[in-house]
Amino acid sequence: MKIFISDAFDASLPGKLSKYGQVTEDRKELPEADVVLVRSKTKCTKEFIDEAKSLKMIIRGGVGLDNIDREYAKQKGIIVKNTPEASSLAVAELAFALMIAIPNRIVDGDSSMKRGQWMKKELKRTELFGKTLGLIGVGRIGTEVAKRAKAFGMKVIAYDPYIKQHEYAELKSKLDEVLAQSDYISLHTPITPETEKIINKDTIAKMKNGVVIINTGRGKCVVEEDVSEALKSGKIAGYGNDVWHSDPPQNSPLINAPNVVLLPHIGASTKENLLRIGEIVEKQISEFSKK
Ligand code: NAD
Repeated sequence: MKIFISDAFDASLPGKLSKYGQVTEDRKELPEADVVLVRSKTKCTKEFIDEAKSLKMIIRGGVGLDNIDREYAKQKGIIVKNTPEASSLAVAELAFALMIAIPNRIVDGDSSMKRGQWMKKELKRTELFGKTLGLIGVGRIGTEVAKRAKAFGMKVIAYDPYIKQHEYAELKSKLDEVLAQSDYISLHTPITPETEKIINKDTIAKMKNGVVIINTGRGKCVVEEDVSEALKSGKIAGYGNDVWHSDPPQNSPLINAPNVVLLPHIGASTKENLLRIGEIVEKQISEFSKK
């Protein structure tokens, strides 16, 4: 069996997988690969799949499968797997890190110090305690964010039409209720026709003035131009973002918008998560090798 590792995994993975076959990181060997391992960088399009003439299984280390043409893979009899449970803690901690960084002015404070400024009077902070967090999507990652928010003394509400009850969040049947009541809104849905552009000028208009939005879900869930305009007007007081319309972003208006904290899609990139992903990938390959 030939295993082609296309994207960045833990450095120990090639060694661990070598007992199942030949492991390569050389793109030229794609046509002979039986198994391809990707994260979010490699796009498994029809053309990519056609090039991989021996391909039997694609494993996506991570959650979203939007970089894989699953329909075409299915037609070709190629198994597609992912590691959905591995990344929840890593992404939830990053969402929470953004939610702490924005009201505590961490980035402004740090960069002003490095410019030689002393902005003790100018940098006004606010607390998370007593504020309302509205989650859009409260699955694995949203749940971990909800737990952390509770520990900070926040009220947690959520819109997720696909679940009936939740231990940590008060579910609202209408998105508008979450938009109207939240001081912080954090996005944790997959990208689907329903969630694409869910944050746009109409939904922003329904939010509280001075809302803070955190997006560690998917870039295309927001209309970046509308978020950027609302940041300029002050309607949105802060925007913490890890996910983009493309990696890296091309001409995103968010880059130069005020009151943003921007990250290069590192939600899943903790050492611990890459190790967890590696363990699950090894199990999947071990099971596949027995077939
Ligand atoms: P999950 O499937 O456990 O949870 C997603 C939740 O969204 C589900 O409860 C589902 O019912 C809900 N949902 C679906 N459509 C909805 C809608 N229209 N409105 C409201 N809720 C809706 O997935 P998860 O593991 O929590 O991951 C969530 C998302 O996080 C992924 O789909 C991916 O886009 C993103 N993610 C980002 C990173 C990163 O690096 N920043 C890493 C991993 C995952």
